[in-house]
Amino acid sequence: MNLILRTAAASDRGKTRENNEDAFYAGPHVVAVADGVGGGPSGEVASALVIRTLAALESASPKEATAALREAVAQANQRIRAAIDRDPSLEGMATTLTAMVVAEDGLAIGHIGDSRAYAWRGHTLTQLTRDDTYVQGLVDNGVISAEEARRHPQRSLVTQAINGSEIAPTFALVTPQPGDRFLLCSDGLSDYVDDHQIAAALANYPDLQRCAQQLINLALDAGAPDNVSVVLADVVPDPSGG
Ligand code: MG
Repeated sequence: MNLILRTAAASDRGKTRENNEDAFYAGPHVVAVADGVGGGPSGEVASALVIRTLAALESASPKEATAALREAVAQANQRIRAAIDRDPSLEGMATTLTAMVVAEDGLAIGHIGDSRAYAWRGHTLTQLTRDDTYVQGLVDNGVISAEEARRHPQRSLVTQAINGSEIAPTFALVTPQPGDRFLLCSDGLSDYVDDHQIAAALANYPDLQRCAQQLINLALDAGAPDNVSVVLADVVPDPSGG
């Protein structure tokens, strides 16, 4: 049985930012969230460029999910480099990326930065990605607790991003099952809405689009100081049988 993704997405500028530097893609074989950083408009340039590169995988029908994703991330990084080389005012632009690709061999997850992927299976929420952040390093070394990390003044300090230089994204391959629901989000959600609230939204809103909007509403209720983006993907049998 071939599986595809049924998706919904929502994004909001939030309550204090003047622009939305997040970008996303949600299709039947590819989902992705990118959170751009940089001066002026360059954060938006970075996230949009990387999402365009990932979205091209939709029509590529790759056989091996991880290899395809790895190649797309490398290509996206090269394009960031090329854009900066063409226009030096873009120097310093970068973006997080969390993406999933479904192919014949399974569902690959690629990650760099602090946008997250979660799985919702059997009423259990599991975080699939590990933030590339300064505070995650402190948690890993037992210096602070995960709860302290949520309030740490330097919690948004990202240690890895797609920036056109050498990068170390992480990849994992999972076997998707019909009924799985995946959530990709920018830190505008996960910094302000805790896992219990996220799990409750996933449990209580079976309709994907309404669930996506509910997650955005939770961030807005929490003040939404950052851009917030969510992509939801339900694993379903391919109706074309293809
Ligand atoms: Mg953000």
